[in-house]
Amino acid sequence: MTTGTTSVEQAARALVARAGEVALCLDFDGTLSPVVDDPEAARPLHGVVELLDPLARRFAAVAIISGRPAPYLAEHVAVPGVRYLGLYGLQEGYQGEVRVDPRLEAARPAVVAATEALADSPAVRESGAWLEDKVYAVGVHTRRVDDPDRWADAIDRTAREVAERYGLEIIPGKMVWELRPAVRGDKGDGVRRVVAESGARSVVVVGDDLGDLPAFAAVAQLTTEGHDGLRVAVRSAEAPSALLASADLVLDGPEGVLDFLRLLAA
Ligand SMILES: [Mg+2]
Repeated sequence: MTTGTTSVEQAARALVARAGEVALCLDFDGTLSPVVDDPEAARPLHGVVELLDPLARRFAAVAIISGRPAPYLAEHVAVPGVRYLGLYGLQEGYQGEVRVDPRLEAARPAVVAATEALADSPAVRESGAWLEDKVYAVGVHTRRVDDPDRWADAIDRTAREVAERYGLEIIPGKMVWELRPAVRGDKGDGVRRVVAESGARSVVVVGDDLGDLPAFAAVAQLTTEGHDGLRVAVRSAEAPSALLASADLVLDGPEGVLDFLRLLAA
């Protein structure tokens, strides 16, 4: 693992020298955008969008691979030529078109029905919990509810009951329950697709969280198949040690990523 400034510069120089063969796969939250309390308020760090434009022209591919929906990524990082792999690669936006994994599309009516059932439930109605329409999933949020602890059990029961009724999975989080189809995407599939479709011989993955580990694993796999790869972890107070331990390079926060992108665009 290399962390010094010089090695970041060396890594960047080596990538710039063969930019046309290199695919850049970037996570969004915590990588391009600082983590914020309100997930809807996440925006790329100032300066990122301007840098991605020349990078998308020069590199074999620039892709943003995230758990967020592709249209969200396209809206907030609007750069021609950038590929947006949303929902962990199950959805892709590129040059204005959006493709979705057919298994997810097939489950959409169940998500709509579950959203309606949640909206009609006493627990959601009486607590004032916010339903987040994620198109292929629905989130029940209690962060802005008065006294969320008081409602946690009732909402948990309701969310589980509705998920079961419509054949959805439930993913509980901090003051959020997400109901979604049991269709798995992983960022590693997204990385492999970007590399295959761009014809890149080299791949760089940048991420800050556990969800980026499959992308790191894809890089390791690709290097055994004759590609070059660089796994870049973004350090923060919450960065998982497993990610930092398997990184070839560590950057300090989204600011460190911005500096790295500057070197790549220079
Ligand atoms: Mg992240």
